[in-house]
Amino acid sequence: MRPESSVMESSDNQQFPSIYGPVNSWRFGRSLGIDPIGAVSTCSFNCVYCQLGNIQQKTTQRQIFVPTAQVLRELQAIAPWDYQDIDVVTLSGSGEPTLAENLGEILAVVKKITKKPIVVLTNSSKLGDRAVRSDLALADIVAVKLDAVSSKQLQRINQSMETIDLPDILTGIEQFRQEYHGCLAMQTMVLSVWTPDIEANYIRLIQRLHPDEIQLNAPSRPRVLARQLESSGNDGVETRSYSCQSLKCISAEDLTALANRIHHITQIPVRYAPVASL
Ligand code: SF4
Repeated sequence: MRPESSVMESSDNQQFPSIYGPVNSWRFGRSLGIDPIGAVSTCSFNCVYCQLGNIQQKTTQRQIFVPTAQVLRELQAIAPWDYQDIDVVTLSGSGEPTLAENLGEILAVVKKITKKPIVVLTNSSKLGDRAVRSDLALADIVAVKLDAVSSKQLQRINQSMETIDLPDILTGIEQFRQEYHGCLAMQTMVLSVWTPDIEANYIRLIQRLHPDEIQLNAPSRPRVLARQLESSGNDGVETRSYSCQSLKCISAEDLTALANRIHHITQIPVRYAPVASL
């Protein structure tokens, strides 16, 4: 794979590049990133651990942020043999990818050019929208976020927009589960040791939603306080000059024990991040 800088040169200098990486993901291997959102971080959540810092634009409205033609042009600028060096293409980037109205078009273009499995990471807030579910059907793996087991927790951890509530999110995931034929992963950030009540409720939700796998993560990387445009990829946060905040993190032992208990009860594969990694 050519270095990131040459990918960036292939795009219009006035535009924020839609391709970044590849980065090494503990969940998916070597991953080429596609960002359908662009320079202004945009999401319906403002998670306390978000690596983008405070979200600049909070919205639930879909719109076109990055033209599909730009993604196509940047993908075509990468030599075909460079794609051999990647395991997956992941749509994530500068916010919530399902807010991109051209998500389906972008997925179709990415699939045609790279011929690699496609992953979409979503915060699950738009899964109640039929058009979003139809777009996501084109992805090979969809990782849906579920950090909260109550509306209060959703507000505290994800700081979601007030029009979003947990019952709607759960109904959206349920609808998507019924329609989707790819791999549905449940991604959950574990900020601290859960109480027995939270753990029991989480397991009940897992049994209701039937993901193919569970991915437990921990906020082990310092969080930037404000958006840094160079922060995509694998560069070392600790060498940066801008302000970061370290979040209190669950221990590796506690995360492992939690993963084992969830797997024991649900019989669903549970993967968890080595606590010091991405
Ligand atoms: S859902 Fe993702 S992009 Fe949105 S605020 Fe949370 S971590 Fe950041």
